[in-house]
Amino acid sequence: MTDPAATSASLTQQEAQDRAALIEVDRYDIRVDVRELAEGDRWLATSSIVFSCREPGATTFVDCVGEVLSASLNDIPLDLSSVAGGRIPLAGLEADNVLVVSSAQTDTGSGDAILRSVDPQDKLVYVWSSFEPDGARRAWACFDQPDLKAVHGFQVSAPQEWTVLSNTGPEVVLDRDDGGRLWIFEDTPRLSTYVVVVNAGPFHELREERGGHSLGLYCRQSLKSYLERDAEELFTVTEQGLAFFGDRFAVPFPQQRYDQVFVPDFGGAMENWGCVTWTDSVLHRTPPTYGERQFRALVLLHEMAHMWFGDLVTMRWWDDLWLNEAFASFASTWASASATEYHDAWAAFLAEEQRLAYQQDMGPASHPIRTSVPDVGHAFASFDAITYFKGQATLAQLMAYVSEETFVEGLRSYFRDHAYGNAELGDLMSAIGAAAGQDLAEWTTSWLDRAGTDTISLVGTTLLISSPDGGEPRRHALRVGSYNRTDDGLEKRGELLVQTTGTTTYLPDLPVADVHVLNDGDLTFAAVRTDESSLQLLLSEAARLPEAVNRAVAVGTAWDMLTKGELATGDFLECVLAVLATEQSPGVVEPFFGLALRAAEQWSPAVLVPRRLARLADVAVTRADEPDHRTAALQTLAWAASQPEHFELLDDAAEDDVDLAWRVMVRRASLGRYDEAAVAELLARDPDPEAHLRAWGVSAARPVEEAKAEAWERFWRERAVPAGPPTPAFALCFWRPVQHDLLVPWAHRFLDEVTNVSGGGLLALGGMVRHMRPSTCDDAWLQRASDLANSDDVQPVVRTELQIGVDMLSRVLRARS
Ligand SMILES: [Zn+2]
Repeated sequence: MTDPAATSASLTQQEAQDRAALIEVDRYDIRVDVRELAEGDRWLATSSIVFSCREPGATTFVDCVGEVLSASLNDIPLDLSSVAGGRIPLAGLEADNVLVVSSAQTDTGSGDAILRSVDPQDKLVYVWSSFEPDGARRAWACFDQPDLKAVHGFQVSAPQEWTVLSNTGPEVVLDRDDGGRLWIFEDTPRLSTYVVVVNAGPFHELREERGGHSLGLYCRQSLKSYLERDAEELFTVTEQGLAFFGDRFAVPFPQQRYDQVFVPDFGGAMENWGCVTWTDSVLHRTPPTYGERQFRALVLLHEMAHMWFGDLVTMRWWDDLWLNEAFASFASTWASASATEYHDAWAAFLAEEQRLAYQQDMGPASHPIRTSVPDVGHAFASFDAITYFKGQATLAQLMAYVSEETFVEGLRSYFRDHAYGNAELGDLMSAIGAAAGQDLAEWTTSWLDRAGTDTISLVGTTLLISSPDGGEPRRHALRVGSYNRTDDGLEKRGELLVQTTGTTTYLPDLPVADVHVLNDGDLTFAAVRTDESSLQLLLSEAARLPEAVNRAVAVGTAWDMLTKGELATGDFLECVLAVLATEQSPGVVEPFFGLALRAAEQWSPAVLVPRRLARLADVAVTRADEPDHRTAALQTLAWAASQPEHFELLDDAAEDDVDLAWRVMVRRASLGRYDEAAVAELLARDPDPEAHLRAWGVSAARPVEEAKAEAWERFWRERAVPAGPPTPAFALCFWRPVQHDLLVPWAHRFLDEVTNVSGGGLLALGGMVRHMRPSTCDDAWLQRASDLANSDDVQPVVRTELQIGVDMLSRVLRARS
């Protein structure tokens, strides 16, 4: 049998435009039967679609990828032999139509739109669906494009003991005569096909009334103790977010019920209306660190922001997917800093995500934030750090440019005017432009349609600005902070708010000071080089700057200089280790430790790695004494440990911390001290149903050929490492940069894999390729990878990841030489 997905056509923008011009969908009534999934693999659905046609007699098609069992249009059976490429032709449309299609989907094991998952511990079965961008057509017949929104009414038959979750609450649950129960859900509001959901399984449920909403949290039975441990925090951030967005957008979330469902084998999280689906890896099996909790809060708020921006008002076509994502990421950081305990969210964003955007923006994988998306297959091709994080930084810059108050006013009219409908970038920009009383057309083109990062340099009292494409630089709204050295650190003498135009902006009022911090507070997206006399002090005294966000500006500048070959790895390490010795803001401690580790083990010549890791280990040992930073410090130490006293400290701490125990074991294994009996013992002690993945990681870290071969087989052949956080964790164990000689042939094998890789959905595929990218290579690899990226032999999502890898690793090799 052929895989129907392999032969299904990808909807083009033109086809979507034609179809939206022709029809309007009134409602979907969808009956789903998941009872067979308790034992087998078949998902059954009957979709009844009520829609009108503006040109009676015309022809169109409905999407349905799966086995079509029967189909009728206006009570006339359709000829099933005409079904091809995941499309059912519909001829002779009337002004008002009813289409009924019954279909079956048996591809429920790969995670493409629907996944049936068996808990390895208790063997209970859970089923989730996730449709972005065009997975709904794999579950039932629908007009699968974002601008044909409709009311959805779901009726789901499920095994007796299962709970079914969908976008709305169940109206009634009935016993069926032929076994199981029938769940009938309230109608949804008008929604796009990609944000509806059906999840089913014997879920554990927690529910609370907060702030006028009924909040539900769900997970599989084997993880319920972790959900219960973290529930108070999840409820609190959910309540804070709903209140914050409801107020800023001047539209309360219109539905009382807001559920979040944590499921296995899922990558990331998905903003289904009223029923967000999450990877249950975020229910950490050992108490989460500050960084993990902060990240989880950001994801929670990101998906929640989509309820307004994405679900309530939806992009017309996937070319605005970047806006959808960038806005949600922006809004989550904004809400996090304003309404939750994570006040340092913007500093943490700069230290981690914005840095990734700068990195990609300086290489061949750079692209304008806005790109064309000719068909759905390209929707995720540019789904990367530029889309999410540069996009987010650009929106933050827009807010700085027009002021927060004006920005909010613009958003409010945008949501008011387009609720339950579709909109485009232009609609948002004109709403904000109207609030600001200015035309944002030039701002829009210069920030969204041009690739690359501007560089802003301070020379004397003049700002010089250049764009990498040699064109007119963008307009920047930024702050220049001026600081003097005192015994207590660097003290702010003054700050200038500057709006730049063109290549040169004079700062006649710049005070005399020891250090000028360009882009103080990180308002704009630019590479900054302060004046020569400030620069040395900025690098050496970064730790003494009063605000975390500015320490992140300093460390970020140093990293930018390292990657561009303007600063030696050793000098970068001096800067970041000095900051790490005293940094108090927990949101940046973890990313700074991460950067220091990469500099020491990946960016340093092999001969210097042990000494540099030892210096990092010293800092980590000191910080491990402070309760707020203990976990981050110990986790770093676990990557850098070499001395008996390091291992002694770690082993002591790991006695009641299974997660740390696994990390220490990875380190020992990577140094050639693999202890099979100890692994088995820890595996028995770890209550996590996925603990075997940790054991595989330990094995994969061993510096021996057979261990790498076994790990490779598990990852690429058996696909046994689930998408989401387990993938990067496993990849980190495999790719230990110091095992360079052993790993180079595997780096080459990676290129063979990515040429052939397929299945599992585009998002999961992108994740596999991104995270399993080598951390070390040789010159021949750089050549092969760049040839491959320039060929037609790889999918777009793979090409982007290859380009990023080539660019980064060539910089790494240069820094090591
Ligand atoms: Zn999103």
